Amino acid sequence: MNVTIQNALLPTKTGYQTCDVQVTGDKITAIAAALEPQGKAIDATHKLLLPGFFNAHTHSSEMWQRGAIAPLPLELWLSELYSSPDLTPEKIYLSALGTAVETLLSGGTSVIDHLVMPPGQELEAIAAVVRGYREVGIRAFVAPLVQDLAAKEGLPSGNHKTDYQPYSQSTAEILAWMETAIKQFHRPEEGISLMVGPTGLQLCTDELFQGCITLSDRYSLCRHTHLLETKAQQRLAYEKYGHSAVEHLSRLGFLGPQTSLAHCVWLDQADIPVLAASGASVVHNPLSNLRLGSGIAPILQYRQAGINVTFGCDGTASNDSQDILEAIKIGTLLHNTTEPDYQHWITPTQAIAMATQGGARAVNLSSQLGILTVGQQADFVLYDLTSLALLPPTDPVGLLVMGRPVNSVDSIWVRGRQLVEAGQVLSTDISQLRQRFLTTNQWQRRPLNAATAQLAHHYRAVMGLAN
Ligand SMILES: [Zn+2]
Repeated sequence: MNVTIQNALLPTKTGYQTCDVQVTGDKITAIAAALEPQGKAIDATHKLLLPGFFNAHTHSSEMWQRGAIAPLPLELWLSELYSSPDLTPEKIYLSALGTAVETLLSGGTSVIDHLVMPPGQELEAIAAVVRGYREVGIRAFVAPLVQDLAAKEGLPSGNHKTDYQPYSQSTAEILAWMETAIKQFHRPEEGISLMVGPTGLQLCTDELFQGCITLSDRYSLCRHTHLLETKAQQRLAYEKYGHSAVEHLSRLGFLGPQTSLAHCVWLDQADIPVLAASGASVVHNPLSNLRLGSGIAPILQYRQAGINVTFGCDGTASNDSQDILEAIKIGTLLHNTTEPDYQHWITPTQAIAMATQGGARAVNLSSQLGILTVGQQADFVLYDLTSLALLPPTDPVGLLVMGRPVNSVDSIWVRGRQLVEAGQVLSTDISQLRQRFLTTNQWQRRPLNAATAQLAHHYRAVMGLAN
């Protein structure tokens, strides 16, 4: 359907201007003052129009444990996460709906879902998540999360190498179902793209990474992985390869403009120019890094080196929210404490560009997404500037990033389809979603499981903590 957005406030290089935006089909076809309306006219007086944000790293299916996992470092937190065996396709569908809706209502129009699936039910899980994202209408990039090493291999051995159990699927089996999934679900023209998503060097063989590169090249898919989220992973890379993880990804040929790397907290100084030269993007997940005690990623250094950086919430049990605007705020302000030269601090305008253009670049779609210009996809958000959190009128972009504007999203379009109107989601039944969440899970507080306690002993030893 064609839509004319009238009298919206748009940021310019030096300030703001009021103008109209014409959407024809799924694209922006005109931006000017006083356009002749074609199709539905939307009065956007006192509304700010911005391109939609990217929630560029999450794991939607963790939603069933959000708020429930104790404060633990990643390696022990993962043991808790995987101790809950009852992830079904139905739960995966519902958590996709929940993730999509929270992302939308905080200004996000695209999500990169590094999808955690029950082993042996991967195709059903991908079908479920795709069904959820199609229903809501958010633009989705689904990277099925794969590994071919057992969980304990993800920790440095500290010279106490033991024989671990092999992973439940072979590398060849994993690559085979991945190719089936790509053929079945990769539909970029319909707003659903698949990516290759090896979880990270710590839990994957070189063969799995090479297989993912082959699939990425064969089907023109973007690549997504975790990189150096924790200090333990930094140590493990040197133990396994004798060089840094970035060096290893570079030697494997995994890095490129189609590659996005979640976290990047523990890079060596020498890794930064390697990453910059590759054209790969960094996805900054500040809240997850705080929650798991992973560290503060040196985002200002990356930006100065010319590396593209965008924001993610990270999984729903390591943040434990999918409010992308909150991640943008923390991810912007956090670095003021790490850099005395305030001229390098991230401005609100730069933060918005990172969340929009930066996200588009991370999925290699800068020509189609991330900026409000004629010819781009109609993925954008109107914010209600009469919301108390955005008043009195000052600099709305500054207040959006540095304030706390909850419930300020008025309307959203993705691919030209209106998904939110007057703060209400149109595309899915929210009261029904609430009911299904209530009847599917229970209020709980659970003790640490035995496997985590056992792993903690080893973790504490190799990380130099008193046992
Ligand atoms: Zn993650």
